[in-house]
Amino acid sequence: MEDCLLGYSLPELEVWLKEQGEKAFRAKQLYGWLQKGADFDEMRNLPATFRDKLKETERAQGVSIIKTLRSEKDGTEKYLFSLHDGNVVEGVLMRYHYGNTLCISSQVGCRMGCAFCASTLEGRVRDLTPGEMLGEVVTVNALHSEGDKRGVTNIVMMGSGEPLDNYDNVIKFLKLVSAPEGLNISLRNISVSTCGLCDRMDELAQLKLPITLSISLHATTDEARQKIMPVAKKYSVSRLLKACRDYVDIVGRRIVFEYALIEGVNTSLEDADRLADLLRGLLCHVNLIPLNDVKERNLSAPSQKGIEAFQKRLEERGISVTRRREMGADIEGACGQLRRKHLETEGQKP
Ligand code: SAH
Repeated sequence: MEDCLLGYSLPELEVWLKEQGEKAFRAKQLYGWLQKGADFDEMRNLPATFRDKLKETERAQGVSIIKTLRSEKDGTEKYLFSLHDGNVVEGVLMRYHYGNTLCISSQVGCRMGCAFCASTLEGRVRDLTPGEMLGEVVTVNALHSEGDKRGVTNIVMMGSGEPLDNYDNVIKFLKLVSAPEGLNISLRNISVSTCGLCDRMDELAQLKLPITLSISLHATTDEARQKIMPVAKKYSVSRLLKACRDYVDIVGRRIVFEYALIEGVNTSLEDADRLADLLRGLLCHVNLIPLNDVKERNLSAPSQKGIEAFQKRLEERGISVTRRREMGADIEGACGQLRRKHLETEGQKP
């Protein structure tokens, strides 16, 4: 198989094992172990000969955790996952009163080139497979689950990578992670964030998945957006808003707009007014993110006062808006930061 065994659904495993001349009930046993994050050696109720045979040609799991950082302030944990080919990606677990939200990566690096994002500095190295994305969830879930209590209850695809640039694998991952016989994490508890690949958004709408779609908008005019997000040269703001309106019409779920506040770039009250005009009448919510400074690019967040004024103006204009809680700031919480640090200290080209 191309992917690790975790990347296969139960029916797929059943078919595959049958082809190998194995008994059908082995598939359920194997699947159960895989979903617990186990490697072949831990699968004690499987015959050693069977395990040895699998080991020769297959990998069980997609990732392993090689480093964990824990925030003393809020319990946020950041993980560095290693992939079988030596690449690394990162994930962040945020603890809330309602459960644990895991932020996962969908690609090694990213080719979208956003000016403020640490994940894109070296371009895209490769896509993650469905089994690797599920591996991020399975390993962290195994660390934190207790009895019937899930270790991971919510997922946001906001780590490194552009999920809709790895579309087929992401859709398969969503099916796997929500499978009732597997982790059974409801699609309603999963957010997929995109910089706005409109053609893929149109395609995604047709699937009518009850996920939350997040759009990284970050600017209100084509000129301003093109300066910080190369994808804006391909899709105009009006094309993007059309894709959003169509999406809401078809799927019937509200869209979340991410808006990173970058001093001197998109934080004026005129920007707030334009944003309110753009979103008028659309079923949506705005999430304001004070920029995590990227020193390489000389970009920073506005003052507290500036952030508050921007938020207040949106509220006055009737827009549903919240400011994202900053978590794990003491442990390189922002996208791509930990991986970059790892590459730097390993002496590789960051
Ligand atoms: N490629 C996807 C998902 C990954 S990034 C996307 O573009 O949506 C997740 C969110 O973090 C996006 O909204 C992204 O724009 C934002 N982000 C990236 N770098 C940031 C930074 N330095 N400060 C604040 N937000 C950032």
